[in-house]
Amino acid sequence: MAFQKRIAVLGSTGSIGIQTLDIIRKYPGFFKAQILTARSSSDLLIRQALEFQPEAVVVTSRDAWQVVRDALEGTPVQVLYGNDSIAEVLAWDTVDLVLNALVGFIGLEPSLAALSNHKILALANKESLVAGGHLVLREATAGKGSILPVDSEHSAVFQCLRGEQATIEKIILTASGGPFFRHSARELESITKAEALDHPTWNMGAKVTVDSATLMNKGLEVIEAYWLFGQPLSRIEVMIHPQSLIHSMVQFTDGTIKAQMGYPDMHLPILYALSFPRRMDYPDAPRMELAHFRSMEFHMPPADRFPCLEMAYQAMKTGGNTPCVLNAANEVAVDAFLHERLNFTAIPKLISQTLEKVSYIADPTFSILKETHEEAQRVAQILLASY
Ligand code: MG
Repeated sequence: MAFQKRIAVLGSTGSIGIQTLDIIRKYPGFFKAQILTARSSSDLLIRQALEFQPEAVVVTSRDAWQVVRDALEGTPVQVLYGNDSIAEVLAWDTVDLVLNALVGFIGLEPSLAALSNHKILALANKESLVAGGHLVLREATAGKGSILPVDSEHSAVFQCLRGEQATIEKIILTASGGPFFRHSARELESITKAEALDHPTWNMGAKVTVDSATLMNKGLEVIEAYWLFGQPLSRIEVMIHPQSLIHSMVQFTDGTIKAQMGYPDMHLPILYALSFPRRMDYPDAPRMELAHFRSMEFHMPPADRFPCLEMAYQAMKTGGNTPCVLNAANEVAVDAFLHERLNFTAIPKLISQTLEKVSYIADPTFSILKETHEEAQRVAQILLASY
């Protein structure tokens, strides 16, 4: 049997986690789910543990941990509790690759732990790089750990760059534009939660779907690309491409543009990251019927109606703890929108007010970033009360 990669799936009950387990299920000879972690979705985690028989599961909500522990009693699966246990299992020799599918700032610490333990980090948690990119990169270059992008745009760029000995002229990240790309400023005022969660091309978790609708997702991805590919912001562009068939592009200094294409399906970038440096067969993936596509559109991002994208560029230009503040405020704003306490168009307003109120720190350590994150969330919550 081929070498089997043993995988820790952080956030196994979320959208990316579930799709990662779909891939592991299809390739039992190649991949093994070694660790599963979840916060509170105990029923699904129990089903996953019974099916995949991991070495351990880690649950970070205390109530859910008790439920999972009782359900898995008498099985060989260890049931551990808390964020500290996540850091602990990432040091185990039985883990080869860490797929970080956590959502939000909470993903940063396990990203650092994976790299400091010399694991391959398959990164779906973009907030790790947004909030703490300098720390993640430092950890990756200091040791034997490596980072593989799972985000579809960055997987596309990564694939375009393979085999190239070339200078990058620009990276072109594509964006579907979300469901409201053609809405007027007036129409954006009255968007509901259900409308925002109905993404035209991608099937994703709630937070990233709302981020796609505001274009903050693309802003976070610009920062992610900055760290992953070491390019200045002036060489990272965004194009709206509503069909989501080109997942991103790289333009080289001879004018050539390479694009990576496929139907929008997160299983593909997940499989690529898990199997890298191989490209594995995937007979189940529907093949693109090129003759069905009469046109592919590209548009400049509508900055006036979607200020989040430019706010992300500005935050990264400022640097220091500013992208961390941006991310923290966005987490609060999106959560408030999902709980119907904030209008869609108030999301960027709340973020920009928070950015004004949290003080700047130039080269933050992890513990300073944690304080920044908490402070920014507190400030955003206080501001939220006046909406
Ligand atoms: Mg993406």
